[in-house]
Amino acid sequence: MPKAAELVIDAKATLGEGAIWHAQKQRLYWVDILAGHVHIYDPVTNRNRTIEVGQPVGTVVPRRSGGVIVAVRHGFASLDLESGALHVLCEVEHDLPNNRFNDGKCDPAGRLWAGTMSMHGEEPGAGSLYCLEQDHSVRRMLTGVTVSNGIVWSLDQSTMYYIDTPTLEVTAFDYDVATGSISRPRAVVRIPKDQGLPDGMTIDAEGMLWIAHWGGSQVSRWDPASGQQIQAVHVPTPLVTSCAFGGSNLDELYITTARIGLDETALREQPHAGGLFRAYPGVRGVEAVEFAG
Ligand code: CA
Repeated sequence: MPKAAELVIDAKATLGEGAIWHAQKQRLYWVDILAGHVHIYDPVTNRNRTIEVGQPVGTVVPRRSGGVIVAVRHGFASLDLESGALHVLCEVEHDLPNNRFNDGKCDPAGRLWAGTMSMHGEEPGAGSLYCLEQDHSVRRMLTGVTVSNGIVWSLDQSTMYYIDTPTLEVTAFDYDVATGSISRPRAVVRIPKDQGLPDGMTIDAEGMLWIAHWGGSQVSRWDPASGQQIQAVHVPTPLVTSCAFGGSNLDELYITTARIGLDETALREQPHAGGLFRAYPGVRGVEAVEFAG
């Protein structure tokens, strides 16, 4: 049984999310969605730098040509990490003022997939899943999504794994990396109701899925072939939102958390809610793909 996750940065994020390790820069990027913050954490100095974006930021991914791409309230934008300059690449859902972007990640070809949800929380079918191409055109890939969340690709690139949180499932799709098309959805993992809600997700070097449990105080490891849970890391606060392997050996599991909705009593008991945590689960991750456009 691996040790529980330990606090790294007492960030007190409202809705910490979107952890992703940028191997080229040896930095962890993560966001506070509702505060509109992009965070850059350097484990060597243990410093966390914050960029104020000025609008909700659902997710952040590194960009091959420099800087990062963020999914902001109504579209995709580039963000210069030195100047903080935001440049919108393409608008999405400007006709749906109550929606915002949520989690996302790049596919093996460097396209960015990210989905939307209602600003008001769980509104059934309000969201969609989008794919931002390298040429900055965007395609709507799924409709009728409620809380678009964790997304990751199998190591052989043939499968996309995706979480729409209220389903309590990980859905697998056959993936065509040449065209960025998905087909044949089927449930491969089901999270027991008493373990919280599936949120963010990453994959390790053995092809196993790591899932953050919102309301479940843990990150769990699953075999998508058998649907069995094979490991779990306790996180000492309930709202666990995303996870990413990082560090120079990709053996450090970074975990984001939230404090939104916790009342005064809960916050007294959970003073580190909204912090950035780290665990050493004994397996390695794989490098995240940069946006290629
Ligand atoms: Ca999330």
